[in-house]
Amino acid sequence: MVKETGYYELLGVKPTADANELKKAYRKLALKYHPDKNPNEGERFKAISQAYEVLSDPKKRDLYDRGGEQAIKEGGVDRDFHSPMDIFDMFFGMGGGGRDRRGPSKGKNVVHPLNVSLDDLYNGAVRKLALQKNVICAKCEGRGGKKGAVETCSNCRGSGMQVRIQQLGPGMVQQIQTVCHECQGQGERINPKDRCKNCNGKKTNRERKILEVHIDKGMKDGQQITFSGEGDQEPGLEPGDIVIVLDEKEHNTFKRNGTDLALSMEINLTEALCGFTKTIETLDDRILVIQTLPGEVIKSGDIRCIRGEGMPQYKNPFEKGRLIIQFSVKFPPDNWIPTEQISQLEALLPERKESIIPDDAEECTLVKYDPKMEQSRRRAEAYDSDEEGMDGRRVQCASH
Ligand SMILES: [Zn+2]
Ligand SMILES: [Zn+2]
Repeated sequence: MVKETGYYELLGVKPTADANELKKAYRKLALKYHPDKNPNEGERFKAISQAYEVLSDPKKRDLYDRGGEQAIKEGGVDRDFHSPMDIFDMFFGMGGGGRDRRGPSKGKNVVHPLNVSLDDLYNGAVRKLALQKNVICAKCEGRGGKKGAVETCSNCRGSGMQVRIQQLGPGMVQQIQTVCHECQGQGERINPKDRCKNCNGKKTNRERKILEVHIDKGMKDGQQITFSGEGDQEPGLEPGDIVIVLDEKEHNTFKRNGTDLALSMEINLTEALCGFTKTIETLDDRILVIQTLPGEVIKSGDIRCIRGEGMPQYKNPFEKGRLIIQFSVKFPPDNWIPTEQISQLEALLPERKESIIPDDAEECTLVKYDPKMEQSRRRAEAYDSDEEGMDGRRVQCASH
């Protein structure tokens, strides 16, 4: 039993969630609340990142489960959170180099989410993405000042570190090493009067860059498109990559499952019993016609499919998956039909089964029952006791 569930709730998972479920939950929420897409949800994005940072680390998760947020804040494990952006870049940019894999010569990968519709993924699309990035100053070529303006820091003699000697008592001294405050550990500095005016001595400038992202037919949710070397520039470093992560928006009609597309179709009782002809508009705006065979009956929940009308395969777009149609049958409105029609209907439909009713049988009234309502009531009840009883299928007959 965990002490608190706040972090789990932030990610929308149960406290029993495994590493995979946590990853999935973070992936979805981080893409949704990334500042690129939701500039006003910064706090939310941060909270999600912190929750994931704690729960994805077995040591920290254990500490949290036992002592809650308080325990994390009080430490035991390193208590500084990474920046939400770092977590995001690490999560999505992993495997793509980064500092630790190819040595210190390569800059960090930067990851951006990109909203795509199912239509984009079906038809392919080109999207322009405007980004801000650091570019080496063209005027000073990344030196930060005039040629020769860079001088070794006199305070630390270029080491970037500064040693202070502190007298602790007679004959006792202590050496304290700190980052040089003159050059902020750079080991060199630029005389303010020689500083490049274009970059103000920063060596790089923030520039707007337009990337053209080619979305190929059949690409998937979460698929990454890498722009090699398009990350932030920094003198002496090979720039990292820009990684675009596709975030597929839900479609109103179609649900995607691999290369299959699924759709629900409602038909009425007459169509279910007597047949129908219906149309479906595809993602590339064609009209498909489907119909039942004469005499064919469709029940609620019945499934049919059309081959070759699903999603195109990535890199092989002429091959397509299936379009799966699940039917639901709409019964007469308000579950009611005019009483004078009953005998006409009965004459056409299969004969009803007569029940044999003993003399001492008791007559009861049928009352409406909504399993959904019942489920949420039980969930509220079960919340303080335990998780049991959450299974919606174990619905008992209401006894009150
Ligand atoms: Zn210095
Ligand atoms: Zn400059």
